[in-house]
Amino acid sequence: MKFNIMTLFPDMIKQGLGSSIIGKAQEKNLIEIDTINIRDYAYNKHKQVDDYPYGGGAGMVMQPEPIYEAYKAVASKLNNKPRVIYLTPQGKTFNQEMAMELSKEEELIFLCGHYEGIDERVIDMIVTDEVSIGDYILTGGELAVMVMVDAISRLIPDVLSNGVSATTESFDDNLLEYPQYTRPAVFMDKKVPDILLSGHHKNIDQWRREQSLIRTYNKRPDLLEKAELSEKDKKILDK
Ligand code: SAM
Repeated sequence: MKFNIMTLFPDMIKQGLGSSIIGKAQEKNLIEIDTINIRDYAYNKHKQVDDYPYGGGAGMVMQPEPIYEAYKAVASKLNNKPRVIYLTPQGKTFNQEMAMELSKEEELIFLCGHYEGIDERVIDMIVTDEVSIGDYILTGGELAVMVMVDAISRLIPDVLSNGVSATTESFDDNLLEYPQYTRPAVFMDKKVPDILLSGHHKNIDQWRREQSLIRTYNKRPDLLEKAELSEKDKKILDK
């Protein structure tokens, strides 16, 4: 998977995604993250990329030309025409299902806005998807793209050393994950549930399923509407 990220602040992305699991995935060539500095495509000698909004109002708006030129430069290097995702609070809210869907793409282009946003004309011309990471306003799209790249990358084969853990997380099957425990077995008088020490895998699986259902019911009942529940699951929830 190759992520092509158009931004005014490439260093933020390089620093943010350069270490830990995503950094290692890049070292192993499992993913590639290319940043394109929109300012390099500014027309004027001061490298200005923003201007006052027509019609007045606060703040500055990113101009269309440098973004369009940056896009042309990225697209000319790619074989296919990848989706172009604009990070914006006005987009569809990012979730695990979307991460899963995007992890199947070979290449993606992301466009990070800043200031008051981007001239609408270039959005109309190049953007295929508008995505938000939640109902709040960030200063720029860089943190949002990092969230997306992280969530998508960990679904790519071999990025996580234990392949199983990518498929048993919260939101798989629209349920939250069961509680997790590790050593010590007793911490400040609080014991790990006996069943997890029993070594009886069938009972452990059953306990985890129950916990998953109960947690989802208590913390995110909205998810249960979309979850596929067996008769046994429904009985647990009825209790
Ligand atoms: N004026 C815009 C509006 O009201 O819709 C908000 C602009 S915001 C201050 C600047 C940039 O940050 C946006 O162009 C977008 O790229 C990014 N951004 C802000 N909040 C975001 C969010 N929740 N999800 C994704 N991107 C966001």
